[in-house]
Amino acid sequence: MPKRLFTATPTKLLNFADCKRKYRYTYLESPRPPKGPPWAHNTVGAIVHEVLADFFGRWPAARRTPDEVVAKMRSSWRSEGFRDERQSLDWRERSTEMVLGYLRDSDPYYEPRGVERTVGFTTERASLRGRIDRIDERPARDGSGGTELAIVDYKTGRRPLTATDARSSLAMALYVLGARRVLHRPCTRVELHHLPTNTVAAADHDDESLARHQKRAESMADDAAAAEARWAEGLTPAEADAAFPPEPSALCGWCDFAKICPQGRREAPTREPWAGLDEPSPVPLDEAG
Ligand code: SF4
Repeated sequence: MPKRLFTATPTKLLNFADCKRKYRYTYLESPRPPKGPPWAHNTVGAIVHEVLADFFGRWPAARRTPDEVVAKMRSSWRSEGFRDERQSLDWRERSTEMVLGYLRDSDPYYEPRGVERTVGFTTERASLRGRIDRIDERPARDGSGGTELAIVDYKTGRRPLTATDARSSLAMALYVLGARRVLHRPCTRVELHHLPTNTVAAADHDDESLARHQKRAESMADDAAAAEARWAEGLTPAEADAAFPPEPSALCGWCDFAKICPQGRREAPTREPWAGLDEPSPVPLDEAG
């Protein structure tokens, strides 16, 4: 029998690396323990992603106007996680300005190669997949006259981003490998489009950097697969706590399960749901919106 591959997204692997208890609560417990309230900064990120996906992926060129963007931001807006109506409306306007600024110089006729495109690839040990915000197809920079792909990820968090962030992102590297596999085009370029500053943090991968990221992903997948196999055997509560221990860190203040995790609450104060609007969270880039 061929060996069954462990299937994972970069977020799932990084959750396992962050904290085994959080992983167990997120992916294994059934029913899943109740999460805390939604985060306002995640609401902002989700709405911005939805509007940009419509703009580049679903709207014809004639519809790609500032008025349509404003109307879409308003109709898509949700107040989940905000302190009150006033804060929500304030952020609706700020977010709308942010999206308009980002789109100001975009060509309305531009058609990306993919929008919210799911890609994946398999190694000898794992099946790795993920959904890419946008895949651009551009003239190849090697003078061949062909085209190459660029992986674009939208970021709405407070922290400005650098080329090192783009290069060190596990998710972006795996997206490169997945896009190559699915779309059969050359691809080395990864770009983090940071909307709050309207800047792009870009990097190019080579075979060595991609191999390094893939090796890291496979190692994480091996560890997660072994832990899940133990879970499937049926663990007592004490055995489950030992196999999936809490791993307190600065991330606990932003963890959805902090309310039911005494060790996490001791480690970091629980944030208000709107804290991430003004405070850069330490949530790793690959897990943040
Ligand atoms: S609060 Fe911290 S230790 Fe507890 S589950 Fe969340 S990340 Fe893990």
